Amino acid sequence: MIPFSPPRIDDRTIKAVEEALRSGWITTGPRTKEFEKRIAAYCGVDRAIALNSWTNACELVLRWYGVGPGDEVIVPAYTYCATANIVMHVGAKPIMVDVLDDFTMDPEAVRKVLTNRTKAIIPVDIGGLPANIKAIMRVAEEGCNLFTPKVNLRVAGSNPQMRLGRALVLADAAHSFGASVGGTKVGAQADITGFSFHAVKNLTTAEGGALTLNLPEPFAHEELYRYFNTMSLHGQSKDALAKTQPGAWRYDVAFPGWKCNMTDIQAAIGLVELDRFDTETTPRRKAICERYSAAFAGDDRFLVPTFQVGDRQSCYHLYMLRIPNATEEQRDAIITAIAEQQVSVNVHFIPLPKLSFYESQGYRMVDYPNTFKLYSTEISLPVYYDLTDAQVDTVIAAVKAAVQKVL
Ligand SMILES: *Cc1c(COP(=O)(O)O)cnc(C)c1O
Repeated sequence: MIPFSPPRIDDRTIKAVEEALRSGWITTGPRTKEFEKRIAAYCGVDRAIALNSWTNACELVLRWYGVGPGDEVIVPAYTYCATANIVMHVGAKPIMVDVLDDFTMDPEAVRKVLTNRTKAIIPVDIGGLPANIKAIMRVAEEGCNLFTPKVNLRVAGSNPQMRLGRALVLADAAHSFGASVGGTKVGAQADITGFSFHAVKNLTTAEGGALTLNLPEPFAHEELYRYFNTMSLHGQSKDALAKTQPGAWRYDVAFPGWKCNMTDIQAAIGLVELDRFDTETTPRRKAICERYSAAFAGDDRFLVPTFQVGDRQSCYHLYMLRIPNATEEQRDAIITAIAEQQVSVNVHFIPLPKLSFYESQGYRMVDYPNTFKLYSTEISLPVYYDLTDAQVDTVIAAVKAAVQKVL
């Protein structure tokens, strides 16, 4: 059986975790701090904070920005549920927009739904291809005249909505660590970018996430970093490491924060992953994607994914193959036929309006025709470091045989 996306766990990973366990410090500590510094340096930003998931990290961002009841947050209809669920968690309303043929959020669709209630925009770098972040930042900036900040909002002595004066752009880069836009790494374009290090992502810490901070002047990233740290630890003024100093037991809680810090066990895995990310992980993923494309391109039963659009370069997280002439039912039958050949594939993603919760909230699939067209013809093929060329060829043969059988 060829699995879809197992993590790369080898002796080096196991040794790093063992060292963390034997160090006597297993929660947030020196390894997490080192991991944060390395992520910030990699992405070319002043500061990054590592937390326990994309979901909790990005939810903290919405809470910090004061997003709540009566507010709207623009998200693509084509994404994982987490993107919209965090908007529900804070009591705001997700406003869904359609995507372009490259699977990313349509900036012009964002412009059309921007209102005086819009507090944030969350583009998604689906499959690893960055959304058109420059165009989306421009839409947010040009929409500043519509923006209506909450006047009574105070976070650590200032009002972030008054300071920014427009909708916050929070990039969902759960798939795109290592991707780039115009030669700079993802993480250095949006106001704040959220990464996921969940087990199936292209850089993993088992579970985990990080934020890179890239807000314009006069935001102070060091101060913001400290604030997010406090938010992730119950609003407590000292973290566990600071409290280990002799006599440094007293702390205060300035507000009822959340609990979503990263542990040093997770960071130990992440540090190994980072070390070999550019030299081993991405080159292997790229080679696998290119081997698939060489086999499927030029055959009109298939549509191969694009890994570069203008100055946006993918990090090869997913291989999102399309069967353009298939109906949704035929695509499902193709997946069944592939599975019968002991190959695991996937669909990224079931659009939000097709999930029963969002359907119950009144979202309708027919309002997002391009999202439906892409989803109903999409099959994601296995891409991971340990997948061999022979296995890639097995996947290719299984997909071709399944399509032959069904269409
Ligand atoms: C995985 C994923 C998330 C959530 O990441 P977690 O770290 O599991 O919270 C968010 N958005 C997208 C597009 C994802 O694929």
